[in-house]
Amino acid sequence: MNAVAKELNAGIQKVKLLINGEFVDSRTTEWREVTNPATQEVLAYVPFATREEIEAAVQSAHAAFATWKKTPIGTRMRIMLKLQALIRENLQRIAVTLSAEQGKTIPDAEGDVFRGLEVVEHAASIGTLQQGEFSENVAGAVDTYTLRQPVGVCAGITPFNFPAMIPLWMFPMAIVCGNTFVLKPSEQDPLSTMMLVELALQAGVPKGVLNVVHGGKEVVDALCTHEHVKAVSFVGSTAVGTHVYRLGSEHGKRVQSMMGAKNHAVVLPDANREHTLNALAGAGFGAAGQRCMATSVVVLVGSSAQWLPELVEKAKLLKVNAGSEPNTDIGPVVSRAARQRVLGLIETGVKEGATLLLDGRDVVVKGYEDGNFIGPTIFSDVTTDMDIYKTEIFGPVLVVLQVATLDEAIALVNRNPFGNGVGLFTQSGAAARKFQSEIDIGQVGINIPIPVPVPYFSFTGSRGSKLGDLGPYGKQVVQFYTQTKTVTARWFDDATVNEGVNTTISLR
Ligand code: NAD
Repeated sequence: MNAVAKELNAGIQKVKLLINGEFVDSRTTEWREVTNPATQEVLAYVPFATREEIEAAVQSAHAAFATWKKTPIGTRMRIMLKLQALIRENLQRIAVTLSAEQGKTIPDAEGDVFRGLEVVEHAASIGTLQQGEFSENVAGAVDTYTLRQPVGVCAGITPFNFPAMIPLWMFPMAIVCGNTFVLKPSEQDPLSTMMLVELALQAGVPKGVLNVVHGGKEVVDALCTHEHVKAVSFVGSTAVGTHVYRLGSEHGKRVQSMMGAKNHAVVLPDANREHTLNALAGAGFGAAGQRCMATSVVVLVGSSAQWLPELVEKAKLLKVNAGSEPNTDIGPVVSRAARQRVLGLIETGVKEGATLLLDGRDVVVKGYEDGNFIGPTIFSDVTTDMDIYKTEIFGPVLVVLQVATLDEAIALVNRNPFGNGVGLFTQSGAAARKFQSEIDIGQVGINIPIPVPVPYFSFTGSRGSKLGDLGPYGKQVVQFYTQTKTVTARWFDDATVNEGVNTTISLR
């Protein structure tokens, strides 16, 4: 996986760092290949930044904060307007690169960029989002108001599965609030992220306001402990997110960690059969199951258990191929290691005694024989003590359980360690209302399989899927990226009565 600098093929692109407004070559000796998961072609080398480079990035962000925080809100807003226009113009180009480095289909890659673009559009509303509050006459001639001020240097650490959307959850909202930013993209697919960063500079983000360092644990730990970093946004697995949350918190940062998932879809017998089965197949196998909001567990309630053979038939029709090929439904998983991990979990499921109704292990894709492909895979007769139920598989694998009632389904979902997303499929408003009230999950979909909220709401999560109280984007992230200051003010005029010295706390 890692290569030494001197062995790098000179003809292959080296991903740059962004420090103080300049795209620079890293001086590191540690590099990693960025590969196309459908072909294993090496697309680029990504550096693991040195201590000095991380330091330079943070210092540049620290220095830029002094002027950026005073930049008028309208100027910051107009940069976001320009950025959204540039992303829109370049959306197809970015999607092609994203598909090549990550594996997802081109239309899905366009969706990845588009969902991030929507956050940039929303960032342009910062004029109203960052307003404080004001109360007149809280005491005689005394007013109290709040200022929402930027916190300083913020850091962002992103996962491989949405290399456009998730960086765009972070840096536009952070910098439009007046902060400066150091981004650490996923080392597995940093190319499309870097295209977005280039557009941000073209849109007018001044030097030092946005910096990028690449790497793994060492870079992440350095950012979580640096004295100048005030806030850390993390999206990725539960193990790493928990580490980031603890390390950052111990060092006095505010931290938001959005983490792993095991998303259930609960199907009641009164649901619309065709729409529901289409939704399950799409949300279970789309993006090769590598969405944090992918449906990974289907809970069939009562007689909806009879729909299982039809779900298997729908899954069989999905076309496994390279993401760049037209009409592909399921691309490869991101790496050989990811494929091995998913295959290992399928093997575990077989050993645990689940029934393998559809086995995607031996899929061969003509012309892409080296790709990291796994076909749609479905297990039934799954129980909650099995590893395939408890572990986030992050591949095109659906596990199916059966229960007798909605109450049982709710209890089952609430016992799972994760709390990211859930869907209920029903025609009953009463059942849906009960479900949304009793379920302990961040994102709830009613006849919607992947209920990712639009950017004027906020992404959330519960239990093992989230640490920290404020989520990415929307109003919550404006709170996360700003600190509140209250000002209590009194002004004297000629009519103000001199009350003399008062040594008691005010009684009114
Ligand atoms: P990951 O946790 O392996 O990596 C995330 C980031 O952490 C990367 O930038 C990586 O370089 C860094 N990292 C990896 N190991 C580290 C370590 N030991 N110490 C410090 N940093 C480390 O996650 P991934 O495989 O890139 O992404 C998939 C995961 O992300 C899944 O669990 C998925 O559910 C989750 N995810 C969650 C959300 C959400 O909003 N809840 C969204 C997308 C993805």
